[in-house]
Amino acid sequence: MPGILHIDMDAFYASVEELDAPELKGKPVIVGGASRRGVVCAASYPARKFGVHSAMPMMRAMKLCPHAIVVPPRMDRYSEISRQVFSVFHRFTPLVEGLSVDEAFLDVEASRSLFGDGRAIAQKIKTAIREELGLVASAGVAPNKFIAKIASDIGKPDGLCVVEESDVVNFLSPLPIERLWGVGPKTAPKMHSLGLHTFADIARSAPHVLEGLIGSWGLEIRSLARGEDFRDVNPGREAKSISAEETYEQDLIGKEAIEGTLLRHASRIAQRMLAENLEARTIGVKLKYGDFSLVSRRTTLPDPVSDTSSLYEAGCSLLDRCDVGRGIRLTGLSASNFLERGEARTLFVNARAKKFEKLEEVVARADARFGTGTIERARLVETARATTPDEQKPRPLSDLGPSSVLRKGR
Ligand SMILES: [Mg+2]
Repeated sequence: MPGILHIDMDAFYASVEELDAPELKGKPVIVGGASRRGVVCAASYPARKFGVHSAMPMMRAMKLCPHAIVVPPRMDRYSEISRQVFSVFHRFTPLVEGLSVDEAFLDVEASRSLFGDGRAIAQKIKTAIREELGLVASAGVAPNKFIAKIASDIGKPDGLCVVEESDVVNFLSPLPIERLWGVGPKTAPKMHSLGLHTFADIARSAPHVLEGLIGSWGLEIRSLARGEDFRDVNPGREAKSISAEETYEQDLIGKEAIEGTLLRHASRIAQRMLAENLEARTIGVKLKYGDFSLVSRRTTLPDPVSDTSSLYEAGCSLLDRCDVGRGIRLTGLSASNFLERGEARTLFVNARAKKFEKLEEVVARADARFGTGTIERARLVETARATTPDEQKPRPLSDLGPSSVLRKGR
């Protein structure tokens, strides 16, 4: 019986807004900054019918769905609900690995005698979330993380999709290659031209063909397409690092472009550390070059940090120790060597970090009041101008693959 669950809240931010303002229910709701530069954070299902999706510029979303109700994001409220959702997960197993505020992997192998099989546990979790929190989650139950994640997505919304060990091949075979992590708008057409359209095609193809096409990554997606994924569920308490990374369709050139990506990573890691009440002493940077060679550098700071600016600056200083003169296909930033927030505060007072934390709070408050992006870091605005036109825009990968976009490691 499959024992890995992937639980993902449906339209999480938008659903929380509906929960707090029931008059929004059933209407097209868009959560995001309403300013000219605003971006969609989340969209309710009625809004999605018009083609609105997250990460879309608000201007475009409003064109697609002019009668949508735009609500500024309230991150504090979402993390409050997120904690309640995760506490439901923890009733069924200590092995919970959060991927973001609203989704997690659960290993329930050892919970069976208490709560029933994977399907029964997924059902119980969905029911608890509905009855106690008034929200809807989708669940995938499978023998491993990769399949569980696809399964939860397939049932959405309010889904419960169970993939038995004996069904893995039938389940995966017909899926389009676009569902494979790292197969984007640039790689997919090449694959189609070689007659590779489904997971089955990838699973059957000769390793050297895929390797020739996309390098060593080809071998990895071939394993995934065959349903082979041996990654464990890493519970938060044992998390030794939090990292964010992205692979780009086109190689990044130059230090400025790279720094821009580090700022985005830093902001995601800072949010995650805030949610987990952590500060980090060690910061690492990872770069993968066009030829797939990899370089990583890390530094241990005198004082632990948790805010975006400090993480970002530490990352940038590490770039001085990397070759940034070549094309780069992936950038990553990581934080590790954690302390509970405030644990070190009693030992030494880092006035500068305090100042930035204050700034972070002010930005968060302004975001809550006026919409995300009201106050943007000047640096991010510049890089956005310099690099966003579609070609250079980073294509965030889904977390289907071994290197999820935002992940926790041991
Ligand atoms: Mg979700």
